[in-house]
Amino acid sequence: MFFIIGTKFFTWGGAKTPDMIRCSECGTVAQFSEKTGMRFLTLFFIVPTIPLSGKKKMIECPNCKARFQTD
Ligand SMILES: [Zn+2]
Repeated sequence: MFFIIGTKFFTWGGAKTPDMIRCSECGTVAQFSEKTGMRFLTLFFIVPTIPLSGKKKMIECPNCKARFQTD
């Protein structure tokens, strides 16, 4: 039996930022989605097993989905 191991970046959360932010990718001014993400080692591409990084805070543009790290 083979184990297929990879890495995947998971994000969760989706609260809106209190402030309007201008996206440097597409120029949209909107409330971005605040997300927390972590890179995991995965089995079979989907099962997160071991976290490889600390939590990263980021915001996501609602228009073009570009992500910007906030810390
Ligand atoms: Zn954008």
